[in-house]
Amino acid sequence: MLDLDRFKQVNDTLGHAAGDALIRDFGSRISDLVQPDATVARLGGDEFVVLLPDVQSKQAVENICHKILSAAHRPFAVLGSEAFVGVSIGVVFSPESSTDRMELMRKADIALYHAKAAGRDCFRAFAPGMDESIKFRRRIEEDLRRALASGDELRVHYQPLVGAAGEPIVGVEALVRWQHPRRGLISPESFIPIAEETGLISQLGEWILVEACSAAKRWPQLFVAVNLSPAQFRMPKFAERVIEIVCEAGVDPGQIELEVTETVLLHDDEAITVALNKLRDAGFKIALDDFGTGYSSLSHLRKFEVDKIKIDRTFVQNLGTTDSTAIVTAVVNLAHAMGLQVSAEGVETKHQSTFLTAAGCNVMQGFLFSKAVPHDEMEALLSIERDKKQAA
Ligand code: C2E
Ligand code: CA
Ligand code: CA
Repeated sequence: MLDLDRFKQVNDTLGHAAGDALIRDFGSRISDLVQPDATVARLGGDEFVVLLPDVQSKQAVENICHKILSAAHRPFAVLGSEAFVGVSIGVVFSPESSTDRMELMRKADIALYHAKAAGRDCFRAFAPGMDESIKFRRRIEEDLRRALASGDELRVHYQPLVGAAGEPIVGVEALVRWQHPRRGLISPESFIPIAEETGLISQLGEWILVEACSAAKRWPQLFVAVNLSPAQFRMPKFAERVIEIVCEAGVDPGQIELEVTETVLLHDDEAITVALNKLRDAGFKIALDDFGTGYSSLSHLRKFEVDKIKIDRTFVQNLGTTDSTAIVTAVVNLAHAMGLQVSAEGVETKHQSTFLTAAGCNVMQGFLFSKAVPHDEMEALLSIERDKKQAA
């Protein structure tokens, strides 16, 4: 079972006629890839089913999946424009399953759900246990809805961002925490993706921004970094909402740094460019998060004006290996040449901090300085710093 990724954006930006053309083109691309005895069908919307009646091995199915993935990657020429999509694929291998058609469809659908949850643009084969994990996600979704409504279980913690060369705390990053009544503390890495899939990210993101604004008011001397998920950018009027929330709180947008990942910039998406530019015009700072993990291309930095890049923690952790050391040095130099600030995350040792300072990093963040802490503890860290300054 196949489902196109980012198809809605094609429809929204290039129009339905372009969407229809893309669907036809994609259909014929997959028909060309399979044996004549295979069935290629469109279920509706951007969903397709491919039935391979005579495959001998799982490997053969995987090979076809890889071919379909790359066929989807080639740009689609539609109505004089180029459109880029991807595809998520759910596979069920009938010799291992029943041959009941309904049951096969249900399992392929569950596998497809897993492919999407894994970040889309990939395939997943149905495996026993997937049923269970879907139930788990549904339960988390319900609980998250409840937590958002009550507001009791969610918190924002703050991690200090320190200036290089022994400077004091210059900012904080707002990081969300969920204290679940039965499951305990749930990591944002497990519930943010569920919030993204279900659309709850919109409400969650606004709630975090409101919290971050009150932090910004309490600590006027610091900038406050807030993470934005790519899914938020797809919401209509997203930039307007952000501007509204921050202005209503009486916070200067210049005090807020919005962290976006490279995936946000990846798809030449008009709507995203417009939103980012609106935010920048309103005075927000933009930082490119997790730099180096995705498709890092410095040409993104030219096309989308950003103020800062955050070198991903994997590079910091691998400092000392020739590759990482060379990459970090090169990235800092290039960024500075382009007039951008550089920060590094995941700094855990004195040695890393010394290297990064020497390389010219402007801001550092990591367990060496402090983990993310509740508001009161952050307050305490700031007052220790004030005392030190007075003593000096
Ligand atoms: P991120 O934006 O890369 O955030 C930094 C993560 O690295 C945080 O994990 C932080 O606690 C962790 N970290 C900080 N210093 C160190 C260190 O020295 N060593 C190591 N190993 N890790 C360090 P956390 O809070 O679990 O957040 C994980 C991810 O979840 C974040 O990665 C971000 O992508 C997402 N996230 C967290 N809060 C939010 C939020 O409010 N909104 C959105 N959209 N995403 C969020
Ligand atoms: Ca971040
Ligand atoms: Ca990061």
